[in-house]
Amino acid sequence: MTATTLAAFIALVGPPASGKRTVAAGLCSRRHGQVFQLREVARRGRRDGWLAPPSPLTGREVDGLSPESVDAVLHEALLQGRFPAGEVVVFEGFPTTADQLHSLRRLAVLRGVPLMVLELGTAEDVLVGRALARRVCPTCEPDPDGDPRQPAQAAHDNPNRCAVCRQILVLRRCDNPTRFARRLQSYWQDRPQIRQAASSFGIPWRPVDASGQSSDVVNAAQQLMQELLPPAAVAMPG
Ligand SMILES: [Zn+2]
Repeated sequence: MTATTLAAFIALVGPPASGKRTVAAGLCSRRHGQVFQLREVARRGRRDGWLAPPSPLTGREVDGLSPESVDAVLHEALLQGRFPAGEVVVFEGFPTTADQLHSLRRLAVLRGVPLMVLELGTAEDVLVGRALARRVCPTCEPDPDGDPRQPAQAAHDNPNRCAVCRQILVLRRCDNPTRFARRLQSYWQDRPQIRQAASSFGIPWRPVDASGQSSDVVNAAQQLMQELLPPAAVAMPG
């Protein structure tokens, strides 16, 4: 057994319901990778005391975190070893602003690893259809903010109930049509600045067609990610 060396940062972005969570998990399972979810890592940091509790809101927050808190999370997680990096870190739905991309790039430079942006994309009606179809289980995922996000499996005999606990499944809070439309709009509004920042830093930005089956999307994303990685160790024949 050799220790795994961090080899790449992958920023996985895309409009809501484009499948970021599934693709991030798929990529990480194929290489020795870890999914970085800002909200989760920040919550863990507050629980474990290495991240200051939220300060009064200033209006500059994204996902409830000020730019300073985002920097603190990234710094602690990826430079102070609060986060188990593995060979690849896939940043799920991050960055959401050009400033966040700057921070991520700075970290990549400090860690000496390449950074690539993969952007999932598909037609808007597909996104809306997926958002309306996906359900979460508040019982199996008791979220402290009342905002469970893990896709839940429906029972065979009743699509409205959870396959695990039999409780009623619900729409994700942020998938209600009004909020979803707002999230979609804000994605397209913020994207040009992030795209522009990536190109000014020479950070590769690769589109991934996310309209097909999730395994095909993961395959396509993995092909692109390979550009940054050393070949995977293969078993010796015979
Ligand atoms: Zn359940």
